[in-house]
Amino acid sequence: MTGVIVVGGGQAGFSVASTLRASGYDGPVTVLAAEPHPPYQRPPLSKKAHTGPVRVELVPESFYRDRDIDLRLGDEVTALDLTARTVLTRTGTRVPYDHLVLATGARNRPLPVPGAELPGVHALRSLDDALTIGRALTTARDVVVVGGGFIGLELARVALAGGARVTVVELAGQLLSRAVSAELEPSLRQRHERAGVRILTATAVRALEGEGRVERVVTEQGVLPADLVVYGIGAVPRDELARQAGLAVHDGVLVDEQLRSVTDPRVSAVGDCARHPHPRADGPVRLESVQNAVDQGALVARRITGSAAPYENLPWFWSDQGDVKLQIAGLRSPSDAVHLVPGDAPERLAAYAFRDALLVAVETLNWPAEHLAARRMLERRTPVSAADLAGTTLGALARAARTAEVRR
Ligand SMILES: Cc1cc2nc3c(=O)[nH]c(=O)nc-3n(C[C@H](O)[C@H](O)[C@H](O)COP(=O)(O)OP(=O)(O)OC[C@H]3O[C@@H](n4cnc5c(N)ncnc54)[C@H](O)[C@@H]3O)c2cc1C
Repeated sequence: MTGVIVVGGGQAGFSVASTLRASGYDGPVTVLAAEPHPPYQRPPLSKKAHTGPVRVELVPESFYRDRDIDLRLGDEVTALDLTARTVLTRTGTRVPYDHLVLATGARNRPLPVPGAELPGVHALRSLDDALTIGRALTTARDVVVVGGGFIGLELARVALAGGARVTVVELAGQLLSRAVSAELEPSLRQRHERAGVRILTATAVRALEGEGRVERVVTEQGVLPADLVVYGIGAVPRDELARQAGLAVHDGVLVDEQLRSVTDPRVSAVGDCARHPHPRADGPVRLESVQNAVDQGALVARRITGSAAPYENLPWFWSDQGDVKLQIAGLRSPSDAVHLVPGDAPERLAAYAFRDALLVAVETLNWPAEHLAARRMLERRTPVSAADLAGTTLGALARAARTAEVRR
């Protein structure tokens, strides 16, 4: 038995390896990881890891020893041979597999403007990036964040808390344009502006300039002083190994409902690098979230050990941006009707998205209880219409349903 090879030691790769052992798989499990660090969580990197020492490892190193998981750090896979069923690593090692799982994640989209390579310009993806940005933040006075996405807004609030003047420059007409509804966004934006972040939307960055290091950002709306620029303008899947090996790829490795490559059933792909069919989406989707990475890794491991369930888990996500906790449950599409509902305290707000008059997604600001109620209802596929929610909330509906149950 040659066992399972997992390419990538991130959140999804860890989930595959740990769930294989938890499900009783007793063949060899090898994780080939390009980074020098054992699997760690990325969410704290943009929220706090760079402001001081924070433990981000998912588990202590003894976890791998105790479960006989062969974790090989700092050895990137450079080629797949699907016919011989082997992978080749940078150090020249060839490793055979029965089943191969691609968990290679995503990389930051490069900033396509002159000056992007100047010292003082950074993007955040890895622990090493976070440590570099953390050092830069200790002295930065004028921070420009290019891109008003999750990572950009989280970093903006960290820089602000550290005492810097912070400007976020976003090309689209709103913040978080791919992830958050146009209805919820003004409230989110207002909260960041009230805290002191300057936000320029519908603004293109033309160039980054400076003598020997970045000193200013040239935008359509004028020139911004900057001694630190951090950009987060989206990520692209690391699917090049799959493409070079002849697997079907289209902005992510194309997989079926059980997360097997549509080209080769001995290969699976999970997490940020995979594009999968989902019953809640119109076409195949590629999701970048911890929930998706963990759940997909676990599903593939359970499939290898004999369970044949399709991947249907409810997508959910969170982002902590200073005093703003944004949470999303479900998948919204741009044509869904969105209703804003104020919470029972001024800082709370929810946006309910309806498709064909039924609830499909919920975005909340500073309202974790409503997010949890939304997750429960959407997971159970409880049909909730706009009429059901008139003048009430999901939390209140859930409480009423529980009371009715107890009385019965
Ligand atoms: C700064 C930051 C903050 C985030 N915050 C949140 C959040 O608040 N909430 C949330 O839900 N999600 C968040 N995310 C997203 C979440 O972390 C990712 O969706 C998740 O990590 C995806 O897991 P993955 O295993 O697919 O990819 P990754 O965790 O990126 O791991 C992939 C690994 O594969 C390795 N690799 C790639 N190619 C090879 C190769 N050829 N050989 C060997 N190894 C290879 C990479 O080096 C990497 O270590 C955040 C992401 C970042 C970067």
